[in-house]
Amino acid sequence: VALVTGANRGIGREVARQLAEQGYTVVVGSRDLAKGEATAVELGDAAVATQLDVRDEASVREAVSFVEREFGRLDVLVNNAGITDGWSGTAAEPDFEKVREILDTNLFGSWRLAKATLPLMRRIGYGRIVNVSSGMGQLSDMGGRSPGYRVSKTGLNALTRMLTAELEDENILVNSVCPGWVRTDMGGQNARRSVEEGADTPVWLATLPDGGPTGGFFRDRKPIPW
Ligand code: NAP
Repeated sequence: VALVTGANRGIGREVARQLAEQGYTVVVGSRDLAKGEATAVELGDAAVATQLDVRDEASVREAVSFVEREFGRLDVLVNNAGITDGWSGTAAEPDFEKVREILDTNLFGSWRLAKATLPLMRRIGYGRIVNVSSGMGQLSDMGGRSPGYRVSKTGLNALTRMLTAELEDENILVNSVCPGWVRTDMGGQNARRSVEEGADTPVWLATLPDGGPTGGFFRDRKPIPW
């Protein structure tokens, strides 16, 4: 059973589609339930929708309870939901309201989901957590502008590392992924990659065999610098 956040469109929808194709029962997390339900219908019998706003503690709790009630287990969490600052703003003159909003979604949203789902994974001694990050969060290649987005993804990568350290010796693999520049509402139509290409590495990380990599940052199924 796999839970994908922000699965009603873009990369998240395609990750959900590919996981369903591989035989997973997929829970389509969508902050607008009607959109999630429409996506689940398109994806077929293996998909079901749940209302999930990653900024809302109660919604996160309810979505994870739904998974537990319906399926009694959770194997995979794909933290995909994300927003940008419209690629605007600078670190020198930040709009802190915007920065906070982005951190609350991209970092705290993923963190809330990890916290809420880990007890289920620990119970079955199995888990795969995929944090959909971005090259814009790489410290080794940090640029200016879009400060909220950049720092949210750097923080998400730190979350990957912290969880990995704390989950040592448990069969719960946690990794970050940069999907590349993908043609979605966020990436725009000039992006080089299709959603199918963008979803490939997240799906690969979601379906790693036991003993697979953990605590890494990947693009095109290969490690990239933090
Ligand atoms: P997208 O097309 O804009 O879709 C974003 C998804 O996140 C939507 O389903 C959206 O739901 C959802 N979302 C936003 N805020 C949410 C919230 N508070 N609770 C639940 N869902 C929420 O973006 P995308 O291009 O598919 O991006 C997916 C992930 O890949 C993001 O984390 C992004 O940072 C990362 N990424 C994308 C690219 C790229 O080139 N596209 C590159 C690097 C990294 P609504 O429909 O309700 O708004």
